[in-house]
Amino acid sequence: MCRFIALFSFLCIFPTAVFSTTLTQHVSHDSKRTGVQLLCGKIGRKLSSVSVKECNALAFDEPRFYSVGGLPILEKHFPATKSHAPKVLFIGGIHGDEYSSVSVTFKWLKTLNKHHSGAYDWHFLPLANPDGLLQSRSSRVNRNKVDLNRNFIPASGFPDPLVHWKKKARERSRYYPGKAPLSEPESQVIHQLIEEYRPDIVVSVHAPHGILDFDGSSLKPPKKLGPLHLRQLGTYPGSLGNYAWFVKRIPVMTIELPHAGIMPSRRDIGRMWTDLVGWVGEKSTIRKEIVLSD
Ligand SMILES: [Zn+2]
Repeated sequence: MCRFIALFSFLCIFPTAVFSTTLTQHVSHDSKRTGVQLLCGKIGRKLSSVSVKECNALAFDEPRFYSVGGLPILEKHFPATKSHAPKVLFIGGIHGDEYSSVSVTFKWLKTLNKHHSGAYDWHFLPLANPDGLLQSRSSRVNRNKVDLNRNFIPASGFPDPLVHWKKKARERSRYYPGKAPLSEPESQVIHQLIEEYRPDIVVSVHAPHGILDFDGSSLKPPKKLGPLHLRQLGTYPGSLGNYAWFVKRIPVMTIELPHAGIMPSRRDIGRMWTDLVGWVGEKSTIRKEIVLSD
C-alpha cells in the first residue's frame, strides 16, 4: 500500500516552526528526544508521503506517553493566545492500517506549524497507534491486538463492548475491544488528555469510508469538509465517539478519508483543512454553547 502513498509524496514541506512546551523536565530529556527522532525515522520509512525530515521539523513535544511496544506517542500543542479560545484535540492513526489518516494529519500539522495564529488552541496526536502502523504488516489493532477505538468506557445504556463484540461483531479480531475499557496505554493517553486538556471538540481521522461523521447535539456540524459530506452513522460501544460525546459530552468529528492507502489530492487536503478551521471559527462561541447545552 505504501507504493500508492509514494505516488502522492509531492506535498510541500513547510519551514520548521520553533515551538516547545515544557510538559516534563526529566533527566532522560536527551534520550526522549532521541526516541522521537528514531520514531520519525520509522514513520519516514513506512509512509512515503511523510519524510523523516518533515517529521523531525515538526519539533514534537517531549514524549510523556508510550505505546505497548515502547514507542513514543507523539504530541504537539499549539497554544491559543486568548483564554476562552476553542480547544481542539486532534487524533490521527488510532487505527494503524489507515495510512492516509496519519499522513494527512501530518500535512495539517505542517500547515498549522506555519500559520498558527493563536486564535484557537490545538493539541495533536498524529499517530495514536504507532505499533499498529509501524510493524512490518500494519494492523488496525495495537500490539495487544486490541481495537483502540473500541477500548473506551461505554456510555450508560450501551452494551458492554466485549459483550457487543461477541454478539454483534461476530468476534472479528479487527474489532476486539480488549478485556476491559481502557486496558491499553494508547487509549489511556486519550482518556487522560480528555481529562487534563478538556477539549471543546475532538477530531479523529480515519479511512476509508469517505464521509464526515459527527457525534454531539450541542453543536451544529458542518455539512461538508472539502469533498466529504456529512453522514452521521451513530456510535459503537467503546468507541471514542461513544465515550467522548455520550460520557463526557464533548462533540466528536470523525473525518473518514476516502482511501486508507491513497492520499487525497493536495487541493482536497487544503479544502478539508480550510473548512475545518472555518467551522471552528464560526463556533468561536463553542465553549459558551456547550455550557448552555448542559
Ligand atoms: Zn479507523
